[in-house]
Amino acid sequence: MVSHSKSRVCFQWIPSHVGVFGNEEADVLAKEGSALSLQSVGTRSAQTALARLRSGHIKSLKFIDKEKAFSSCPCSCPASPAHIIDCIGASARQLWSGEGKGLVELLERHGVMDLV
Ligand SMILES: [Zn+2]
Repeated sequence: MVSHSKSRVCFQWIPSHVGVFGNEEADVLAKEGSALSLQSVGTRSAQTALARLRSGHIKSLKFIDKEKAFSSCPCSCPASPAHIIDCIGASARQLWSGEGKGLVELLERHGVMDLV
């Protein structure tokens, strides 16, 4: 990439925390960047929950004598994907549209993340 560029790029190691102009700012930005990647680790469980709901392979799904069975929802109904979505007041549309962020918030608010 650098070799195809007409501008000259110079890489140089810079000692940290010795007052080099711009380096402290770069350090702050790097820390912010690493905090962002921690946040995306946080949303990973949300992404996993959505993927599980979309595929129907949620944690509450068990196979008993090769038949599908579901753990109980807090409302005591079988916690199938369709039931969970219905029970938390969400819609299938929320599951399939956008990031599903609102849906994940509903799952958390109703304490059913461990079923998904
Ligand atoms: Zn329920």
